[in-house]
Amino acid sequence: MDIQRETLDVDILVVGAGPAGLAFGLHLAELVKKSGGVVAMPEVVIIEKGSYPGAHSLSGAVLDPRALKKLIPDYLDRDMPYEKKAGRDSLYYLTENSRVKFPFMPKPFNNDGNYIISLNKFTGWLAEMVEAAEINIFPGTGGIELLIEDNRVVGVRTVDMGLDKDGNPKDNFEPGSILKAKVTVLTEGVRGSLTREACTKLNLDEGKMPQQYLTGVKEIWEIRPGRLQDGEIMHTFGWPLPSEDYGGGFVYDMGGNMAAVGYAVGLNSSNPTNDPHFRFQQFKTHALVKKIFEGGKMLHYGAKTIPEGGYYSMPRLYHDGLLLAGDSAGFLNAQRLKGVHLAMESGMMAAETVFEALKKDDFSAATLKTMQDIFEQSEAAQELYQVRNFHAGFEDGLYAGMIQAGLQMITKGRGLVDRRVVEPDYEHMKKLNEYITDRGVNAVKHDMKFDNEYLFDKLTDVYHSGTKHEEEQPSHLVIADFDICNNQCTEEYGNPCQYFCPAQVYEMVEDEQNPGKKKLQLTPSNCIHCKTCDIADPYQIITWVVPEGGGGPNFTNC
Ligand code: SF4
Repeated sequence: MDIQRETLDVDILVVGAGPAGLAFGLHLAELVKKSGGVVAMPEVVIIEKGSYPGAHSLSGAVLDPRALKKLIPDYLDRDMPYEKKAGRDSLYYLTENSRVKFPFMPKPFNNDGNYIISLNKFTGWLAEMVEAAEINIFPGTGGIELLIEDNRVVGVRTVDMGLDKDGNPKDNFEPGSILKAKVTVLTEGVRGSLTREACTKLNLDEGKMPQQYLTGVKEIWEIRPGRLQDGEIMHTFGWPLPSEDYGGGFVYDMGGNMAAVGYAVGLNSSNPTNDPHFRFQQFKTHALVKKIFEGGKMLHYGAKTIPEGGYYSMPRLYHDGLLLAGDSAGFLNAQRLKGVHLAMESGMMAAETVFEALKKDDFSAATLKTMQDIFEQSEAAQELYQVRNFHAGFEDGLYAGMIQAGLQMITKGRGLVDRRVVEPDYEHMKKLNEYITDRGVNAVKHDMKFDNEYLFDKLTDVYHSGTKHEEEQPSHLVIADFDICNNQCTEEYGNPCQYFCPAQVYEMVEDEQNPGKKKLQLTPSNCIHCKTCDIADPYQIITWVVPEGGGGPNFTNC
């Protein structure tokens, strides 16, 4: 199909209106203002695939205000939205029928001075300030292709709108645009598809450890009065995960009888039926959690992946015409399970880099390398370096990991082994028979009864995420070979996608053409854009691409 596309030239293009992209915009506007006319305000455009800034933003979230203090020192006077100031912290080790409370709070879990926030409200607040600084945000606009000319990034092509399932134009067809920029800043969030393209085509992750991920699943509840203390923050590890799997749970008071409950599970599990949503619902059955939420009402749902690999998994942050920041570039402290402050700081580093590039009118890698230099000298780098081996320390399971974590604390992050070699998450998955032989058939039982009042099935949860996609469009989950799914994967792994997806996008259904056989059926309109499938598929034949702009979840209070 020969498509005529509009080309727009801007100075700076940002992909993703999350905390990193918005901090970039605000900080750049401030630097230009302070320059007193030495540098003119460039034309900055931020594109966002969600229907509004914050629609796809989801996190725990307990915010460390360190970056906020630098970016917006009077943030409280500017009505920064937060649910509660952090109050009592507690940490529990759970078994199925009991709990052990830590007698003291390890320093990384101490939240004194932090804020319990809803990331999607917080993002909306930042976006208002960015727009007030006369920076354009275009929601409902996804970037689908990174434009590279002579090994230099020159911009992004946006998604076509109005194609049918077979890719043919409908009456409302609108071709995507070519957005050309002197520098493109990728702040797409976890496993950004353009970032992935950049890493592959431009070797940004050469010599780096593979990124490692968790999938976090979360609900927001209205609870009965008095179930939580003011600003209470609870973290758990142990049950329902077996000790060889990585992850844990949380409960946060959000004030006004609202509370967040969530569970995050490592995608490096050897279990081919690893199901973060199922683990989350199991977690809610523990007496510690049940006594808080029973009798309440679930209001909202969401899920996202979390980049936990840390310092050694971060790609190079620059290339000719390109900068990376935020979750896309792995700015997350695995030990504290916090990334919002680091995402914002990385956005600010990108702004300082672009400010220098504007002064020189030079957007080559030689100038944009400033980003890497600023990062290496920063508080953020110090923080990430201190915990550089945290996630890898749990490669041999929970108990070995706890010993490693303790050793890392007294050896400035080194522990027993520095830069332990880890495989990509999907390579940890065992074949189903092998796993059952090792762990027994009970280890793969998913025998929960969802009453949809306290324990929710995936479809009911998805309904509470506000997810909407145009049904008549090409699938944004591109499967390279359905034959592998319907034959080899069924035999070898038992189709793990039907378990790891927290939105029931993947189902094995009766194949009418082949009685007695099952085949994979996709429902892309359920997708909540968590990216788990793109990461965890053992054959790496699932590629998540950006759907029509505006499609996806509409997270509320998440
Ligand atoms: Fe997440 Fe993939 Fe399921 Fe979408 S289809 S919700 S990205 S696992």
